[in-house]
Order: sequence, then structure tokens, then C-alpha cells
Amino acid sequence: MILKTKTPMCKNCMSKLVKPSLSSLFSNNQLCPACINRFQVHFYERKIEGVSVLSLYLYEETFKEALYRFKGRGDIILADIFLNNYRVYLKLKYWGNCLVPIPSSRQSDIERGFNHVLEVFKPLGLEMINCLAKKVDFKQSDLGFDERQEVINKLLVIDGSKISGRKIVIVDDLFTTGATVKAAIKLLRPFQPKSIKVLTLAYTKIKGNYVDGLEVKTRGLKR
Ligand SMILES: [Zn+2]
Repeated sequence: MILKTKTPMCKNCMSKLVKPSLSSLFSNNQLCPACINRFQVHFYERKIEGVSVLSLYLYEETFKEALYRFKGRGDIILADIFLNNYRVYLKLKYWGNCLVPIPSSRQSDIERGFNHVLEVFKPLGLEMINCLAKKVDFKQSDLGFDERQEVINKLLVIDGSKISGRKIVIVDDLFTTGATVKAAIKLLRPFQPKSIKVLTLAYTKIKGNYVDGLEVKTRGLKR
């Protein structure tokens, strides 16, 4: 939904932006102070397969709702709210790197009219190398926990030579079980990129036996 109006509005909650906020001086992003507050980043960093994985947000209500409107309902106007005021910081942090997006379901991309991972990370102005693809079209959210661990068999590398000797950042929207990220690292490593990092918009917290509402079955799970 694109609303053309003379009064600037918050892209997230549609309330009128009375005065330009201080942060709007530093970015093109238009969020009201309340939404800027709600979209607090966590900068959660961990190591997976010896690779640094940075997740910006916790996958909680505000983020979840905005991602659903953007990714699930195709509200492209929200594309640039996620990197928010961290665009410059991230641009500098990953300067000289190229981005390798985790592929999403082609069917979903067609339905929403854009690839959400590409749209979110495009504002960083870094080269994108689409060298990961899905062998068969599937939605990650349709997979159970055990099936997610087998994701390495569902991805393939196209033109892997494009990342040889390059510093790469694997990018995705969510870090849930980490299975996709691990699979991507294992598949890309043989092409000898100079370095590998991972950046995801958000991460989910494990609650009891559940990760993002998905029951974790540890039986038979290779760790
Ligand atoms: Zn707002």
C-alpha cells in the first residue's frame, strides 16, 4: 500500500509525523519516535561453524508484525524500516564485502511481487551475488524442525567461482534453528571465499521445547 500525502506519515503505524525527528536527518527512513523506540535492535552476535553471525532484532511482536506485513502481505513500503538508522553503521562494518542472500521460495516471491531479503539489504549498497538456489521450491516455514536440519540437501550453489577470494556476508531475514545458515556456510566454503560472515535481521529465542512455535524434537538430531 502506497499512500501519497503531503503530511509525512510513519511507515509503520501510519501516524502523522508532526516534526521531523532527529534520526530522520540521518536517514531516509520515516518512523515516528514511538516506532523508532519499539524497533530497538539487539545486535546479538554468536559463532556458528566458526563464523560470526550477527542478528539485529529479537523476533518479538513489533518486529513480527512488521515482517508479516512486509513479507507475508507484500507491503513493500516497509522494506527500508528494518535497517532503520543502522544502515550507515552496517555499510561501514561490511565495507568491501558482497552479500549472498539465502534464497526464498520462488512461489512466495512471485506472489508478493518481490524478494524480501534482497529488498531489505539493498539499501546497504553492497554487491549482491545470488549464488545460492533451492533445488526444489519450498518454504522454510513449512518445514518441521528435523526437516530443517536436512536443508543442506535442498540447497545448491550456482556459479560458486563468483565468491572465490571475495569477502562474503550471507544474509537472511530470520535466524531460527540455524540449520539454513549452517548449510549455506558448508556449501559455500569449498569455493574459498576470503571470509564468511552472516547477517540476519532477527533471531528467535528458544522457549522450552519450542523455537518460534515449532516443536523441537531432539531425537535423532545431529548436533
Ligand atoms: Zn509509528
